[in-house]
Amino acid sequence: MKVLVVGAGYAGTLAANRLVKKVKGAEVTVVNPRPEFVERVRLHQRVAGSAEAARPLRSMLRDGIGIRVGEVEKASEGTLLLAGGDTLRYDHLFLAVGSSVRPLPGTVPVGTWEGAGRARAALAALPAGAQVTVVGGGATGVETATEVAERRRDLRVRLVGERLADSLSGRARDRALAALNRLRVDLVEDVVTGAGAANGEIRLRSGGSLPTDLALWAVVSGVPSLAADSGLEVDAAGRVVVDPYLRSVTDGRIFAVGDCAAVPGTRFGCQTAGPQAAHAVDVLARLLADREPEPYPLRYVGRCVSLGRRDAVMQFTRRDDSLRDAHLGGRTGARVKEFIVRSAAFGSRKGISG
Ligand SMILES: Cc1cc2nc3c(=O)[nH]c(=O)nc-3n(C[C@H](O)[C@H](O)[C@H](O)COP(=O)(O)OP(=O)(O)OC[C@H]3O[C@@H](n4cnc5c(N)ncnc54)[C@H](O)[C@@H]3O)c2cc1C
Repeated sequence: MKVLVVGAGYAGTLAANRLVKKVKGAEVTVVNPRPEFVERVRLHQRVAGSAEAARPLRSMLRDGIGIRVGEVEKASEGTLLLAGGDTLRYDHLFLAVGSSVRPLPGTVPVGTWEGAGRARAALAALPAGAQVTVVGGGATGVETATEVAERRRDLRVRLVGERLADSLSGRARDRALAALNRLRVDLVEDVVTGAGAANGEIRLRSGGSLPTDLALWAVVSGVPSLAADSGLEVDAAGRVVVDPYLRSVTDGRIFAVGDCAAVPGTRFGCQTAGPQAAHAVDVLARLLADREPEPYPLRYVGRCVSLGRRDAVMQFTRRDDSLRDAHLGGRTGARVKEFIVRSAAFGSRKGISG
């Protein structure tokens, strides 16, 4: 039985490693655009130079799992079409292509491997006193601004977003804003409507513009068009519409997991990708054993945002991801964050989800 996994991020590698453990006789191949596993939650560290954020994909996969380097253009009727024209047959398919970025022209995206590499080079070339603008008020924006401000104290760093640290609330949010202030990040609550690399400015919705030598796009939005291009039913964001067992409602041979799956009540995150990948593999294993599968349950624990290498804030949530008042911060928060980041990669390599 041929099982293909498209995308070797957190969800894809976890699914592949679990498939060979749980689905006897499965011949598993992972298709990914590059022979590396990109540790996406460390891309802001790649930008600032505090981590590389990639390792050989082979080191993340169990023996016996095939790797095919390539970009999938279409999946239909049990066949994958790769860029360049090659095709691969499958009996079951796991779509784990993650999410994408849509940077404004004139900005450099943080949320892709290539973008983070360009941002790192551009940042390294900036002289002391230069102005960096990080666009995006969510967790990625906060993590990028604090990481850059901590590593490059000689630069001026600004964070712009409609509402800053908006993934947190109450005292946890206050803590994140205090950390940004401590690192001397200028905070601007506004929406960036344009950026001119040539004339070195960003334009704001409220009118006016701000000078900048480098604008980093720290917003993750949308998903790759593969599912839509394949004729699968997708939601407004392009995510695969799935049944309670994480199967595409268009084609039951196809599971969708991680950022690219439209599961009600979920958000982009490793805490979504890992459990979904594990659950989908267990569904397939049960179905093949003529056992009743179980619907996917939400089970969030918290939202953890790094604030440089020595500080982080972890706000606890209920299982449905609604925010609780409780949080951790400071060095304890930073240690918890590092533990979570390592655990995500470890779980993917072992095929387990906590
Ligand atoms: C800077 C940054 C910090 C973050 N921090 C956190 C955090 O602290 N906590 C958290 O929970 N989340 C965080 N996230 C979000 C988290 O990284 C994602 O939610 C997570 O990576 C999703 O996992 P995934 O496996 O679904 O997708 P990804 O990890 O994005 O992997 C998708 C894979 O699919 C591949 N792919 C895409 N299209 C194709 C195609 N057509 N053919 C073949 N392969 C394809 C991609 O190249 C990639 O390898 C952060 C994101 C960023 C950018």
